[in-house]
Amino acid sequence: MLAAVFHGQGDARVAPRPVPEPAEGEITVDVDACGVCGSDLHVMGGSVVVPTPLVLGHELSGRVRESRVDGLVPGTPVTVLPLLPCGTCAACRDGRTNHCVDRIDLGLTVDGGFAEVIRVPRARVGETVFVLPAAVSAVAAAVVEPLAVGLRAASLAGAERGDRALVLGCGMIGQAVIAFLRQSGVGTVVAVDVSPERRAQALARGADDACGPDELRELLGGEPVAAAIDCAGHPDTVAAAVRHTGHGGTVVLAGVYGRRVPVTLDAVVGRELRVQGSFAYASEFGHVIEMLARGDIDGEAFVSRHVSLTEAPSILDRSGSSLDDVKVLVRPAR
Ligand SMILES: [Zn+2]
Ligand SMILES: [Zn+2]
Repeated sequence: MLAAVFHGQGDARVAPRPVPEPAEGEITVDVDACGVCGSDLHVMGGSVVVPTPLVLGHELSGRVRESRVDGLVPGTPVTVLPLLPCGTCAACRDGRTNHCVDRIDLGLTVDGGFAEVIRVPRARVGETVFVLPAAVSAVAAAVVEPLAVGLRAASLAGAERGDRALVLGCGMIGQAVIAFLRQSGVGTVVAVDVSPERRAQALARGADDACGPDELRELLGGEPVAAAIDCAGHPDTVAAAVRHTGHGGTVVLAGVYGRRVPVTLDAVVGRELRVQGSFAYASEFGHVIEMLARGDIDGEAFVSRHVSLTEAPSILDRSGSSLDDVKVLVRPAR
């Protein structure tokens, strides 16, 4: 089979690899679609270190190829929760699988989905492997993972009906946060991004207003927001989130920062702000699939474009991608 293999900073190449075979409790999946994530770009850029050589990619959908798990037969359409929890540690028993102390991470610690076939350890139906309802396409299923990240961040914002919320950074996670805030009945959603195309996408996902970072102060008109969610992972957006959140409000940090970020703590103290981190997802993964099946949210609308496996390295090193891309899906079967 072919796979896009990461060898070290800036170096990913498509090459033949042996087709993986499942051990007991595992399945293999013929990958239909696998999304390129910001974290893949951090790995490619060298700021997140992984063992090499490694096949990246963790936002995948496909069909079961071989199964050594009861209840999963070849041909079944699935998506996979890529942060595979042990299922037995205290965090897992408590349902906080994103804080499992013994995770296996597809595409980060073991081979991921930028390949024709992926091996999935710890395959458990309804926990790590989700059979797709008929109404959920392979394309929509490939964005379940980033949507789940957005659902958790939006939920942790604690914004209520009628509140005004601010979303900083309108990449995939920001777009997902906007859609879920809109779903939850928040009053007004203001989106900020440097890219006009991403701002247009934010409005299409349900934002009421969108502007560039320099126009935010004027757009808010001096009225603070109840919650601000930083999805950009930049010191300037963190500063803006703290600056514009009102008394008792919540600042959710959902970016990958990779450096020390200065925060005006007197503003946090003086306005009694809550600063809330948001990491990955737990039960949100299954909830997103249910929402897609009901039509509460349109997964395919988040996808900017589709590329073949041979084009994957150029997306990972950014030579073939654009700031306007919200989500690029690699399609190994193409
Ligand atoms: Zn991701
Ligand atoms: Zn665990």
